[in-house]
Amino acid sequence: VVVGQAQAIGLLRRAVATGRIAHAYAFLGPAGVGRRLVALGFAQACLCPEGGCGRCRACRRVAAGIHPDCEVLAPTAPRDNPGGALALRIEQVRELGHRAALAPFEGPWKVFILDEADRMTLPTAQALLKTLEEPPPRTILILILANPRALPPTVLSRCQRVRFRPLTVEDATALLAARDAPAETAGLLARLCRGQVGLVQEVDLAPLLAVRAAALALLEVPAPGLALRLDERPPDRASVTAWLDVYWLWFRDALCLAAGADDRCLVNADRRADLAALAGRVPLGALIEAVETLKEAWLALEGNVNPRLVLEATLLRLAPASAA
Ligand SMILES: [Zn+2]
Repeated sequence: VVVGQAQAIGLLRRAVATGRIAHAYAFLGPAGVGRRLVALGFAQACLCPEGGCGRCRACRRVAAGIHPDCEVLAPTAPRDNPGGALALRIEQVRELGHRAALAPFEGPWKVFILDEADRMTLPTAQALLKTLEEPPPRTILILILANPRALPPTVLSRCQRVRFRPLTVEDATALLAARDAPAETAGLLARLCRGQVGLVQEVDLAPLLAVRAAALALLEVPAPGLALRLDERPPDRASVTAWLDVYWLWFRDALCLAAGADDRCLVNADRRADLAALAGRVPLGALIEAVETLKEAWLALEGNVNPRLVLEATLLRLAPASAA
C-alpha cells in the first residue's frame, strides 16, 4: 500500500483509464517514499487483464520480479571492482534497447523500470536517449530518480514527469507503526528518516541514533585534535554523507527554535533541550552560516572531493556555531 502519493497515482490511473500511456515516465522524488512500489503497481495496471487486480498470475509475477514483460534495472558495481560506485551500466542500457525492440511476450506492453536512474554516466544517458528518441511500440520506460540534474535535459524532456512528495510526519509515522514500530518511537523514527520510510531497514531507532551520536560527538572535538581523531578511523563517503545530514538537520532545528517555530517542526524532537540551549547561546547569523556551510559541503562531496577533507573543513567551519 502506498501512502501520501495520491497525486502521482491519480495521474497514472487516468493514463491507464484513458489509454493515454506515455512511452516514458520520470518518477521524481526522494528515495524511500514509494516510487518503486508505484512503478510496479503501474506495471501491474498495464499488464494485468483486470487493470491491476494485484491477485492474478500477471500481477503476482510483476510483484515477484519474474514477469517476462516487466524488467527492473538497478545500478551495479563495475565488473572489475565489486566495491566501486554503483551505476546503471551502458551495457544494461544497450541491452534494454535491443529487448525493447522485440514484441511483448504475453502482455500488451513491455515495461522497463530503471531504478536510481540518476546513477548513470553521460555516455550511458546518451545510449538511453537513442531508445527514448525512437521509442519502440508497446514499450513503457520508467526512470526512477531523486536528482533530475544528474541527467541531461534531453533525456528528461522525453519523459512525462511524475512527482513524488516527501511523506508527512503523520503518514510516515503511520507506515512505520504498521511495520510494528513501537508507538513511542515511531514518531521520532519518522522524523529522523525524514519520511523516507522505505530507507529504514529495520524498524529500529538504534541505528539512526548511533549515526547521530557519532556525528554529534565529532562536533565536540576541539579543533587542534580534529585531524588526529579523523586519522584514527578515516571516514568513508557513506559515513560523511550521513553525518552531513545529521549536522544539517541539527542546525536547521536550532534555527527553527531561534526563529520561534513550533516544536512540531523539529526533526530531533527528542533533543529539544540541547537544541534550545544551542539556539540560545549561538547568534542567529552563525546558525544561518552553519546551514550554508553544510550546503557547500554537500556540493563538494557530490563533486567528488575527498570525503575526509570535506568533513574536516566542515567541522572546522562549524566550530563557531557549535562551541559550548
Ligand atoms: Zn492482476
